[in-house]
Amino acid sequence: MVELWWLTMTRDRLFLYDVTLRDGAQTQGVDFSVEDKRAIALALDVLGIDYVEGGWPGANPADTAFFAERPPLATARFAAFGMTKRAGRSVGNDPGFAAVLDAPADAVTLVGKSWDFQVDVALEIPRAENLDSIAESIAAVKQRGREALFDAEHFFDGYASNPDYALDCIKAAHDSGAGWVVLCDTNGGSMPETVHRVVSEVKAKFPEMALGIHAHNDTEQAVAVSLAALRAGARQIQGTLNGLGERCGNANLCTILPTLLLKEPYASQFETGVSLERLKTLTRASRMLDEILNRAPARHAAYVGPSAFAHKGGLHSSAMLKDTRTYEHVPPESVGNRRKILVSDQAGRSNLLARLAEAGIDIDAKDPRLAKLLENVKQREYLGYTYDGAEASFELLARKALGEVPDYFEVDSFRVIVERRHNALGNLVTVSEATVRVRVDGESFYSVDTGHGPVDALSNALRKDLGKYSGYLADLSLADYKVRILTAGTEAVTRVMVESKDGTGTRFSTVGVSDNIVDASFEALVDAIYLKLLRDGAEA
Ligand SMILES: [Zn+2]
Repeated sequence: MVELWWLTMTRDRLFLYDVTLRDGAQTQGVDFSVEDKRAIALALDVLGIDYVEGGWPGANPADTAFFAERPPLATARFAAFGMTKRAGRSVGNDPGFAAVLDAPADAVTLVGKSWDFQVDVALEIPRAENLDSIAESIAAVKQRGREALFDAEHFFDGYASNPDYALDCIKAAHDSGAGWVVLCDTNGGSMPETVHRVVSEVKAKFPEMALGIHAHNDTEQAVAVSLAALRAGARQIQGTLNGLGERCGNANLCTILPTLLLKEPYASQFETGVSLERLKTLTRASRMLDEILNRAPARHAAYVGPSAFAHKGGLHSSAMLKDTRTYEHVPPESVGNRRKILVSDQAGRSNLLARLAEAGIDIDAKDPRLAKLLENVKQREYLGYTYDGAEASFELLARKALGEVPDYFEVDSFRVIVERRHNALGNLVTVSEATVRVRVDGESFYSVDTGHGPVDALSNALRKDLGKYSGYLADLSLADYKVRILTAGTEAVTRVMVESKDGTGTRFSTVGVSDNIVDASFEALVDAIYLKLLRDGAEA
C-alpha cells in the first residue's frame, strides 16, 4: 500500500496570546489611555492574534473603563485577567474577583501560585488552601460560561522546589475546567533547556492538558524559552509587542511571529491565526506601539527594527544589488519592514547608487554628477556629518546635487535667548525665546516664539510664519533630538540629529554639524523643513 504521508500530515494549531495591555502596561514609564488600549487591541486583531488580554478589570480606572466598552475585535478572543480568589473568602464574597468575572470578556485568565515557597511566604496560608482557591476560582469562571485559563505563576521555580506541589496546583486548575494551563517563568531566569525538560515532564504526566508558556526576558532568552516550550508540547505562547513588559520585558511577539511563520522547523509544523499576508502588518503594529509610547523604535530589533535590513559597506551593497539574499535572511517585505542602504565614508559608488535608489532617485550609473556627490558626501563625513540614520538629509543633499531642490526660503538671521529668572509668582523659571528672520520670494518674515529650550523655541519660531509654506508645516513636529560631541577633522564639533514627524506618523531624520550646538540644531531643523516641503510637492 502506498502511503500518502503528506496528505495525512497536518500542522499543529498553535495559539498566540497577547499580554501587551496587561504585562506591557506594568512597564516603568508606560501609561496607556483607554484610546491607546483600543488602538493596540485592534492592531493585534488585524495581525491575527488569537487572544487579546485587555487588562485587569477593577484593578485600576483605565482597565475598568476599557472593559466597560468592549473593543470591536473581528477574530481575536477578548480576555480579562485576574487573580484566584482571596484566601479566607468565598468566591461570591470577593469584590475584586467579582469585577473580573463580570467583565464582558470571552475568556478569563486567572493567575495563581504554584511555588510552595510563595504560598508559605507571600500568601501565608496552608498549601491545601491554595489548591482549593485555584479549583474554586476556575470553576466559578466556567460557571459564568467563560473560557478559563490558569496562569501558573513561578511554575518553573515551583517545579524545581517541590515538583509534586507544582503539579498539584495545575492539576487542580485542569480538573476544575481550565482549558489552558499556562506555565509562567515569572522571574524570567529559566534556561531554555530546563523549560524544555520541565514542559516535557508535565506533558508526559498530563497528556490531556493544553499547555501554554509565559516567559519573561531577564536573561534575554524569553523567545528561546517560548520556542523550547513549544518543541516540548506547549501549544500556546504568550508575549507582547516589542517585548514590552516589566523589568527586561516579556517574550517578544514581534520576533516570535515571523520566526514561527518563516523559519523551519516551525513553519511546516505549526499553524497559527497569523497568515503570511497578515504578517506584513507586523512592523506597522510595532511602530504604532512606539508611537503611542512616544519612543523611537529600537534600531536593532530583530525583523522590525529600522536597522534590521540596513546595509553598510561597499562590498555588501554591491552584492545586495545583485541578489538581496546575499545579506538578508528573510525579505524585509515579509514583515512589512524596509531595506536601507547606508552611506558611509567606506562607501563606494555602488553603495551610493543603491542608497539613491532607496530614496527613490533614479540616476544613470555613468552620470558625472554622481562622482561629485560622492566626493561631497565624503567631505561632509570628514567634517562630522553622518548619513547613517539621517536619510532625509542625504536625500536633500542628493536632490540638491541633481538640481531638484528649489530655494524655498532663505534665513537672514536668527537669535535665541535663554533667560533664567523669577516669574510673577516668585518661582524660578527658565524661558527660551527665539526670533527668526526669513525671506520668501523676496518678502521678509519675522517671527518670535518661545519653547522648551532653545532648539524647540527656534523650531517654533521658524515654522510660525513661512508665508505660503506655513500650511505644509502645521503637522510637522520634533520627535527626537540627539547631540554628540566629536572630533572631526582637527577640532571638536557638535553633531545634532533631529527626528521629525508629520501628521501621518512618518518619521525622518536630519543632521547638522557646527562648533555651536544651536547652530547645528538650526541646520538640522532647516533640512527637516526643506524635506517636508519637497516631499509634499510645495511650489517654489
Ligand atoms: Zn508576566
